[in-house]
Amino acid sequence: MGKINVAIYNEYYHERHDEKIGAIYPKGMHQAIADALSDDPAIGNIVLATLDDHTTVLSQECLDNTDVLYWWGHMKHREVDDEVVKRVCLRVNQGMGLVVLHSGHASKVFSSLLGTQTGRLRWRESDDKCLVWVVSQGHPIVEGLPPCFEVPADETYGEQFGIPEPDELIFISWFEGGEVFRSGCTFKRGAGKIFYFQNGHETYPIYYQDEVKLILKNAMHWARPYQKKIVYDLGGGNAPPKVSGRVER
Ligand code: ZN
Repeated sequence: MGKINVAIYNEYYHERHDEKIGAIYPKGMHQAIADALSDDPAIGNIVLATLDDHTTVLSQECLDNTDVLYWWGHMKHREVDDEVVKRVCLRVNQGMGLVVLHSGHASKVFSSLLGTQTGRLRWRESDDKCLVWVVSQGHPIVEGLPPCFEVPADETYGEQFGIPEPDELIFISWFEGGEVFRSGCTFKRGAGKIFYFQNGHETYPIYYQDEVKLILKNAMHWARPYQKKIVYDLGGGNAPPKVSGRVER
């Protein structure tokens, strides 16, 4: 298989409007995520997109050449362009992998693909320690991880989490306040694989943590498409079915 081309969307708002967050991620969380992936021998191109430039960077051509898209958003979900959302959702259905991070649960992309209105959850900012438990032993996303690892402090997310039943539950997290949360979930939409991962609130250096970097990498390998692009040819009306489909590799 060829190299894995990645695109990373980060709204890139907090890092530029809050000094403390800017000090943790001076080049933005998108760059930290890119750095986490960059030493993987399978990595191909890495495209970085932010709210300011996403309408041009996440073009059809870019998405057609993207194997896995990472998505981090929080305050500015509503400002994401609806045409970009449509393009992303179509590409996921055609086979592009999607990794949705932290507050990306409320993004237009995630809610459109999952059919949720809100992706509601319980949340609290109080520096709670988080224990991330692996509940899907042997899954490619947990390769190399211990059965449980600690994130020293993160925003607490708790159930109930307003998502459809995940295809696979990869992680369950426990927080000091007592909450539990389905913190790693997979979904399939069309030919595309989606992974949601909870950790990564902007005020903590979580995307520098080794276990989290490994999860980001493992998710890239898991979510990559086996075929570059599935082109649906459904014919029309009463046309007989075509024996051979068209597949671009
Ligand atoms: Zn957060």
